[in-house]
Amino acid sequence: MISRFYASRFTSIVPSFDRRDKRPLESRLMSPAKKKRKKRKPQRPKTALDIITESFAACGRCSYFWAGYRVINGLEDQEQVAAQTDPDWLTLTWSYPMRELLLKSYGSRFDIDFVHYESCCKECRRHFVYDALAGDQPPTLRIERVGGNQ
Ligand SMILES: [Zn+2]
Repeated sequence: MISRFYASRFTSIVPSFDRRDKRPLESRLMSPAKKKRKKRKPQRPKTALDIITESFAACGRCSYFWAGYRVINGLEDQEQVAAQTDPDWLTLTWSYPMRELLLKSYGSRFDIDFVHYESCCKECRRHFVYDALAGDQPPTLRIERVGGNQ
């Protein structure tokens, strides 16, 4: 008895396929509410930064690091990093607060005297390399585009 009730309810909301109905099929199928939703702007394509941010977001430590990097260096810097063409590594802007960010994100404590330091995220094995070998140039920090679990 219940199934019959639902069956009759269902037929009442199925659009008419009456041949005499000359409206285009689409307008017969869609309720006004659905039409309105369809008019919404299509989703913008993902930017290089979106893709990198998603990759970092896949890991708790890395998402913390990437969010902290934005706080320290700004969105514009992050967009420039995302525009780099190296398929494996992102070269980040190094600054003093980055040391604390590495410590908080990855537990990596390194000394101000280090000229070279390599480590990786304990969770996703994303590697990073700090390099101050060229003493006359600012140190660099490179980090892998994707974590090892991706
Ligand atoms: Zn990670």
